Amino acid sequence: MRNARGSLIRPTPLPESASRPVVTPLSPSVAYSSDTPDMLDAQYEGRLQGYTYAREGHPNADVVAARLDAMEGMDGGVVTGSGMGAVACVLMGLLKAGDHVIGANQLYGRSMRLMAEDLPRLGMTTTLADPGDISAVRAALRPETRMILVEVVSNPSLRVADIKGLAALCRERGILLVVDNTFTTPRGFRPFDHGADIVIHSITKLLAGHSDVMLGYVVARDGALSARMSVFAVTAWLTPSPFDCWLAERGMLSFELRFDRAQQTAGLLADHLAGLPGMARVLYPMRADHPDHTRAQDLLGGQGGNMVSFELTGGRAAANAFTRAADGLSFAPTLGDVGTTLSHPATSSHRALSADERAQLGLSEGFFRVSVGLESPDDLLRIFSEGAAAAIDAGISAR
Ligand SMILES: *Cc1c(COP(=O)(O)O)cnc(C)c1O
Repeated sequence: MRNARGSLIRPTPLPESASRPVVTPLSPSVAYSSDTPDMLDAQYEGRLQGYTYAREGHPNADVVAARLDAMEGMDGGVVTGSGMGAVACVLMGLLKAGDHVIGANQLYGRSMRLMAEDLPRLGMTTTLADPGDISAVRAALRPETRMILVEVVSNPSLRVADIKGLAALCRERGILLVVDNTFTTPRGFRPFDHGADIVIHSITKLLAGHSDVMLGYVVARDGALSARMSVFAVTAWLTPSPFDCWLAERGMLSFELRFDRAQQTAGLLADHLAGLPGMARVLYPMRADHPDHTRAQDLLGGQGGNMVSFELTGGRAAANAFTRAADGLSFAPTLGDVGTTLSHPATSSHRALSADERAQLGLSEGFFRVSVGLESPDDLLRIFSEGAAAAIDAGISAR
């Protein structure tokens, strides 16, 4: 079939249809054609809504942004090619040489690296502090401090930041509180309701939820800041591909159901693990024995999330035996997948630290972080029981 102009080299216009697709169409077009220079002018000046070039924006990204804007209760959010793209938009799109940032002392590894290596190289200074200890954060403040970057629940120790105290401190000093809400998700926690100025997500994790797409999101309470981050994202190519956005939207359709189910199972798993022999400790914010239990209840209102951490008594030998026996779980460094995944910080996310530094964080060779998925709770608890039993056997034979 030839198109209207009879040329094979131009795409054939889509056939007309009075009915509409029930699924968001994928728009891979890099460029969009306008009718006239007047029209293009109007588009660039915002008098007319229209796309021009995909790095600057495309329908699939706008659909994902609108969904997250609604979840976080803000407008003007920016979708980025990964969660780290969103972190980079905040730190590199808003700060300038001479500025100082305070980061939580247990940030996501790559966020930590940006703080420790890249910002100083670009003339900014950084300090890490415990986000559960307001006096420590206050002590880190300097006249040139511009922002504090924290995660609500830390990885992998699941410590809960004092978001309310940090928000009060930021208001008092006129600086920005930036909250990475990846672990908690907007279903579990809404940072803007608690005084945050900027919210970051790795959509890659629970929001998209199927481990087949990397994407991030950032939005500020102040629309002018969101606009600045958007310009930086477009300039530095932190903006996302249409196909990734299309996949993420599909995953997000079932996000709330997945989150609720995984969270419910996580609570069951935490209590189950705590009753198994060979466990040194179990960490879950909704358990009464969690070090930040009171704050978690106050801040998260019973929403403990889908992440559980535990420590086996038997060290590396027990850890090896556990993953071998629990082969129904993916031993893989990610989280938020439909399937339960297990990560071992000592050999992955925290391998760059010395054994002493890991010990200070409580991350022994027996420490695992679990991202609970959608398996039937009965199956999942059985797999963990089998893993723990194998870990005990390994501990005995190693002695
Ligand atoms: C994974 C993650 C990121 C980075 O997101 P990517 O999509 O992997 O780039 C940032 N913060 C937290 C808390 C994460 O878990």
